[in-house]
Parts: sequence; structure tokens; C-alpha cells
Amino acid sequence: MSVHDVASFAAGKWVHPTNDAARSIESAVTGEVIARAGSNALDYQAMLDYAKMVGGPALRDMTFHDRARMLKAVATHLNNNRSALYELAYTTGATLSDSKIDIDGGIGTMFVYASKGRRELPDSTTYLDGDLEQLSRNGTFVGQHICTPKLGVGVQINAFNFPVWGMLEKLAPTLLAGVPSIVKPATATCHMTEACVRLMLDSGLLPEGALQLITGGIGDLLERLTAQDVVNFTGSAQTALLLKSNQHLLKHAVSFIAEQDSLNSSVLGPDVSIDTPEFKLFIDEVVREMTTKAGQKCTAIRRIMAPEHLVQPAIDAIEARLDAIRIGDPADKDTQMGPLVSQSQRDDVMTIAAQLEDESRAIGANNGLTVHGADSTAGAFLAPMIYHCADPDNAQHIHQLEAFGPISTIMPYRDLDHACNLLNRGGGSLVASVITHDPQVARQVAVGSAAWHGRIYVNDRVSMNESTVHGSPLPHMLHGGPGRAGGGEELGGIRGVMHYMQRTAVQGSPDMISAIGETWVPNSAQTSVEAHPFTKTFHELKLGETLVTDSREISIEDIETFAHFTGDTFYAHMDEEAAKAIPFFPGRVAHGYLLLSFAAGLFVQPDPGPVLANTGLSDLNFQKPVSAGDSIRVHLTVKRKTPRNEDYGEVRWNVELTNQDNETVATLILHTINAF
Ligand code: NAP
Repeated sequence: MSVHDVASFAAGKWVHPTNDAARSIESAVTGEVIARAGSNALDYQAMLDYAKMVGGPALRDMTFHDRARMLKAVATHLNNNRSALYELAYTTGATLSDSKIDIDGGIGTMFVYASKGRRELPDSTTYLDGDLEQLSRNGTFVGQHICTPKLGVGVQINAFNFPVWGMLEKLAPTLLAGVPSIVKPATATCHMTEACVRLMLDSGLLPEGALQLITGGIGDLLERLTAQDVVNFTGSAQTALLLKSNQHLLKHAVSFIAEQDSLNSSVLGPDVSIDTPEFKLFIDEVVREMTTKAGQKCTAIRRIMAPEHLVQPAIDAIEARLDAIRIGDPADKDTQMGPLVSQSQRDDVMTIAAQLEDESRAIGANNGLTVHGADSTAGAFLAPMIYHCADPDNAQHIHQLEAFGPISTIMPYRDLDHACNLLNRGGGSLVASVITHDPQVARQVAVGSAAWHGRIYVNDRVSMNESTVHGSPLPHMLHGGPGRAGGGEELGGIRGVMHYMQRTAVQGSPDMISAIGETWVPNSAQTSVEAHPFTKTFHELKLGETLVTDSREISIEDIETFAHFTGDTFYAHMDEEAAKAIPFFPGRVAHGYLLLSFAAGLFVQPDPGPVLANTGLSDLNFQKPVSAGDSIRVHLTVKRKTPRNEDYGEVRWNVELTNQDNETVATLILHTINAF
């Protein structure tokens, strides 16, 4: 078999490893050398310059929506060409279902970011973080937090186990933020990452400089980073500590996000008995987490906690299931678990397993390993193994050592406080799960342990058919964890994008803040309109354009008619004496919904036109009561415009209702869809 040279992509060129410093990559299945990687021919400063001078400006010229469309196109391209990646993945030990987690999961994450970018971010280059802050009595000085892209590069350093997902889950939020990336995959599986990067670059969908790749070591790259760069590391706690304590990074306050090893756990609720659906569900989750990717998942269950009386039934059920797992050639469709990534990884796992035996008993240790369709000694095969620790309170290793393979330890707990105490002894994890049908058990575990875990996953008979599995990080939800899990956060929807943006507090007059945030804010300039704004297309409308309507007097008949028509005869509208007893009402008052309805009657232009629909209202506040005899008028102002597709966009209108004394009685934001 010929040995593949895994190239890096640096400053617009593919660079091959040189003979003197290349590292070998072995097939997980046969142990043969299949590829080599090495980066000593790279000019790291040129890579950083290329990212910052070419990639960064090109990405920052695009709006969030442009970048989201780009992500969607890249994800579609990868999706259409992913079969070549599956083929390559067999050499890393991944079965087809393992690859679906890595490859399809990575592409799916890109799609989610593409969609969230369009729905949750503006068609702008600036993101407004939180609400406008009033900083002065008369409203002439206000504040707003904004987020803008960092002017640097996102450097990813990734673990070997997810060569595609590990890259794409970081790349999607980085590019959406408008920041170029340099990806450094783990050498053991960098040939997979290289193939995926080639697909993306060959698609021509990414601006030049947006994506570069280092296969091999990173040389002195970290020493060249600045405060505008972000290092996003995934790997072992040991490597994380080495890298994040780099003096240059500390001196220059370079952001460092760490996702590192983690002793994730699963708790079987005390309400569960062996004949309930939750017992089988628990066994399913544990066995899946131990055997998927041969247990080489950062979120895999390493510690299993069961009520004392269920420990033996759980051991019996898990052991029976593990015995039936078919281990072998990952390319064989009947194989359920392939080898570990390499012989050295298997050696590491076995070394840690031996330490676990100091304080726990290996169950079924002599069952042996049967490997189908491959040589069990040449490949990095290892049988899944469960350990039983009868005295978890006096154990150390089981709460400290991560065997990054198909190994897990089961232990008893006395009550939920004890279970939470054991959960938290892991010193910080990515995910803890609890399998229970009792909401109070779920609450007690969540409250008792959430501070030590990045994610709490609860499952039962209600959610089991639709739930994602314990080990799946989802792009919508935070991935990361405190303490030994690294203290970092990734994903979590748009939160993940913000790691690559600088949050800045801007303060100034309303006009300044409107211009900076491309959003009209109260007390900034309003321009009066000649033509009714409902007759204008999306593109014709200007921020701050304001319609001031005629006024309308509210009569007691209006209030009564509305009450009887809608059925809302609440006493504050109908009973003078009772209404007067309410401290903030002068007597009977108009319904808030009557005011909203009359407001629409005042501002709506009824003819068919560019306004296609009213899709909602938000931020509704009734600020002052309106009584019979009062009159209202509406100030309708274009606040923000967001394109939604090729034909129309959403307009947000600031709606202010004032009374005859020009006092504000209600405010709201109206959402409409307007044709282009
Ligand atoms: P690792 O040995 O710590 O390596 C991680 C990355 O760091 C690799 O790209 C590696 O490159 C690089 N690296 C190692 N030493 C370096 C140095 N001195 N300078 C610069 N880069 C260096 O971890 P791994 O064995 O690949 O992955 C397994 C570990 O990752 C497990 O502990 C697992 O729990 C953890 N993990 C965590 C998550 C999470 O999201 N929290 C996800 C997956 C895995 P080379 O390969 O070239 O050495």
C-alpha cells in the first residue's frame, strides 16, 4: 500500500511534509503505515498574515446572513460528497455508524449554524447584545453592548477522535462570526481532516484565507498570536495545561478555550425497577456510550451509578449486552465496534484500566476478545470492559482517571445526595445523565450537581423515542464543562459565535447608538413620512421613518362593546368602585387589548401592498391607564429591517401610544413581513 503524504494548506498553497520530520500514521485495523504528516516546511507567520490580511477582511465584508448562506452552501457540498470520507474513516477504526456521528454530525452542525445565523442574527456586521440601557434621566445618553468580529484568527487544535466534527463544530461558529480559521487536527487522524478540508477548499465557496490547515506540529505558532486571536483546544488535560500555560499567551491575554478530558457519569434513578422502561433505557445508554467509537468519545459514560439493590442487575444486563457486541473490521456492516485509533492508544487505555483494578473488580475479564474479519493483534482491538467498585467513597482512581476507550466503572449509591456527591467527585464533566421517571429525582440531581457539569441529560419513557443520546453534543446546546473538563464552552447556538467576537459597551446619544447598531432606538431622530410606510417596499423603508396617526377618543361605550364582544368583562373595565380600589387605576379603564386594536385601526393602511403579514408583537408594556374620555394616537417607527429570503424581509416597528397630554400609555414592537 502506498503511503499518503498528508499536506497542510498554508497561505493559499498545499505544502507536503518533508522527509526529515514526518510522523507516521497507522491504520487502526491493520497497524500498517498508511500516511505521514509533518509541518516543518510551514511558515507560520505567513499563515497568520494570510488569514489576517486576506481571509479576515473578506469575511468581515460579509454580513452574518452572507456568512450563514456560505455555511449552508459548504455544508450542502460536504453532504453531497461525504461518501469518500466514510471510506477513509475505516482506517481510523470508525464503523459506518461511528462515521455518521463524526461526518454527518459535523455537517449537521454547520447546517444548524447556517440556519441560526439567518434566523437569530441580523443582516449586518454588528450584533447587539442585550437591551438598550438608559444611562440618563432625559434619555439623551444611552448605552448598548455590541459584538464585532475579532480581528485575528481562530486557531483550532483538535483531538483525534472526531477528525471531521471536531473541526466543523468550531469552524461553523468561527466563520459565522467573521473570523478566519487555522485548523490543526491530531496527527493520528489528520488524513481525514485533510480530505474534508480539500472538499471545502475545492468547492470554491469559502473566501481566500478563510481556512488553512496544519498537519503535524504547530511549531512556534502560539508564540505569534495576539489578543485578537482565539485558541480553541480539544484534547487531554495534560496537553491543555501545557498549552494554556504558555507565557506568551498569558502575557498577551490570548483567549484560550479548553475542552479536555472528562469523567462523565450516568445515574439510574432510585424510582426505577428492573421491569420499568427506564431500566432498559439506562442499559442501552451505557452500552452505547461504552462501544460507540470504541469508547473514544469525550462525552462517553465513564462512571455508572445505581441504587445499591440495582447494581448487580445492572452489571448482569450490561455484561450480557457487551458480550454480544460484534467486534471486528469497521468496514464490515455487521461490525458494531471497531478498533481503537492506534496500538499506542490501546496501550494507554490498558495502563489506566490496570490502575482502576486497584480499587474495583473487572467483570468478565476472562471472556477474551473475538475479532471478526481482522487480525486481533495487528489492529488496535480491545474488548469493552465493565468494572465494579463496591466502595466509591474510598476510591480515588475511578473519580480521577479517564480510560479513553470502551471501559466504564459501576458503583452503588445510597440516596440522591450521595449520588450527587459521587457525580461531583469527577471534578467537572461535560455531561451527567439521570435516567428517571420521577421529575423530583431529576430536579434533585440537576440542582445538586449542575454546577459541576456542562450538560445534564434526563431521559425516561416519555422522551426516549425522540431523545438524542447521552453522548451527543448538539449545536443548539452548550458543550463544555467546568474544572477538569477544561472550563470552556463551545456551541450553545449563537453563544458559540460570541467566543470569536469582542463585546464592547458603547455609550452616546440615541442618534449615535442607532447609527452604530443599525437599529432605531427611542429618542433618536425620527423622520416624518409623506407616503404611508405600509405602501413602501422593504428596501424603500428607512430606519427612523415615523408615521404619526390621528387621535381617537375612547368612550365608555367602546369599553363596554369591547367587553361584551370579547367576553373580557374583568372588573377593572366594568365596575367603577371595584376598579377604584386598585391602587394604580383612577376608576374603570380601557382594556389594554382594546388600545392595541384601536392602535392597529389608526396605523394600518388597508389596501393590498408590500406588507404581507403581521407575524407578531413583542416587548408589550402598558404604562399608563386610559379612561373613557382620553384619546390615543400612535407613533409608528421603522426600528430594524432583516431580510429573510430573496423576496421579503422582516420589519420591526417601534409602536408608541400616547394620550392627549402626549404621555406614553403603551409601547410595543410590531413584526411584519414586507415584500422587497
Ligand atoms: P492530546 O494528545 O492532548 O492531543 C490533542 C491535540 O493537541 C492534538 O491535535 C495534538 O497534536 C495536540 N498537541 C499535543 N501536544 C502538543 C504540543 N506540545 N503542542 C501543540 N499541540 C499539541 O489528545 P488526544 O489524544 O488527541 O485526544 C484524546 C483526549 O481528548 C481525551 O482525553 C479526551 O477526553 C479529550 N477530548 C475532549 C473533547 C471535549 O470536547 N472535551 C473532545 C474529544 C476529546 P498531535 O496529535 O500532533 O500530537
